[in-house]
Amino acid sequence: MLPFTYFRPRTLDEAIEALRAGGESTKLLAGGTTLYDLMKIGVEAPAAVVDIHLLRELDHLEVRAGELVIGAGARMSAVSAHPEVRRLFPAVSESLWRSASQQLRNMATIGGNLMQRTRCAYFRGGVPYPCNKRDPGTGCAARDGVDGGMAVLGTSDDCIATYPGDLAVALVAFDAVVDVLGPDGARSLPVAQLRPLPGDTPHVEHVLRPGEVITQVRLPITAVAAKSAYLKIRPRESYAFAFASAAVGLVLAGSPAEAAVIECRIALGGVSTVPWRAAAAEQWLIGRPLTEDAARTAGEIAMRGAEPGRANAFKVELGVHTVAQSLLSLSRSES
Ligand SMILES: Cc1cc2nc3c(=O)[nH]c(=O)nc-3n(C[C@H](O)[C@H](O)[C@H](O)COP(=O)(O)OP(=O)(O)OC[C@H]3O[C@@H](n4cnc5c(N)ncnc54)[C@H](O)[C@@H]3O)c2cc1C
Ligand code: SF4
Repeated sequence: MLPFTYFRPRTLDEAIEALRAGGESTKLLAGGTTLYDLMKIGVEAPAAVVDIHLLRELDHLEVRAGELVIGAGARMSAVSAHPEVRRLFPAVSESLWRSASQQLRNMATIGGNLMQRTRCAYFRGGVPYPCNKRDPGTGCAARDGVDGGMAVLGTSDDCIATYPGDLAVALVAFDAVVDVLGPDGARSLPVAQLRPLPGDTPHVEHVLRPGEVITQVRLPITAVAAKSAYLKIRPRESYAFAFASAAVGLVLAGSPAEAAVIECRIALGGVSTVPWRAAAAEQWLIGRPLTEDAARTAGEIAMRGAEPGRANAFKVELGVHTVAQSLLSLSRSES
């Protein structure tokens, strides 16, 4: 690891000032569970880090004015276990406790989770491999390499890296917003807009401006979010990233035998380059009874446009199945 300057601000304002003082390559340090990793393998080499892990201003969780508000510094484990999160947003709670390991969740924060980078082995593998995300314009080793874990939705000729996080999938399904603070003041943006598609600029991984800090995430409290779930399919049942995942929410109305969908949310992870909201599949389900056939068709619509490579075609059927399965298990738990 290269030497770097370490700042430990006592307030958010001091953190913003330290980001400015540290220069262009300065990085925020929260739990450090992914930043230190990337520094050790040489993918990140900041001249300075600004440690916000102990900033109390960022560590809060409350229900306020029809919203659940989660500080960016709240730990993944604390948010996952919080009774209001479990009651109002089961999918958010499940997405967190199905992530990483208990030790990592105890250290890692909500802001750090949203800003984690891809696990593409070529990106993390260092210099021998061309990677447009790490070194723009060098090419994409995954295109002709081992692509079993790569994305099938939202890819481009220049990058097929999967977005690795779980939490953002649930946040996108339920219209979460992030609040950010930077040298030019505060602003808010939907989590769905935080990460652009790779296109021909895969090195542009988020839309935060230089010096901006995510301060909190806000989720509107809705009936559909309270009836939600997160299903994650992975190579082993713990401590692994998703091959496919789905955050779903469902409100049904009518007699149990003929209950029709009146509201629905579907977002996918593990199969796409960004957290993937399946709005067309949601729309298609409205007004229909949630039969096995209907759940499968919704899954097929959600995976429309998938472009598999050599070894990741299994993700297309897996994505269909994950959506269908998660919808059906939710509807069974409702009746
Ligand atoms: C073995 C392993 C398995 C994992 N499995 C999963 C998994 O299954 N699912 C999953 O979702 N994740 C998984 N992860 C990733 C893990 O969840 C992240 O490492 C963690 O959430 C990052 O949080 P952190 O607070 O440690 O971030 P840090 O490592 O401190 O920071 C990560 C990035 O976020 C930036 N950042 C941090 N806070 C802010 C902020 N407030 N505003 C703006 N930028 C900020 C930092 O500058 C840095 O670039 C795994 C990680 C490991 C090591
Ligand atoms: S898929 Fe993206 S991150 Fe992986 S090698 Fe290609 S350009 Fe790099």
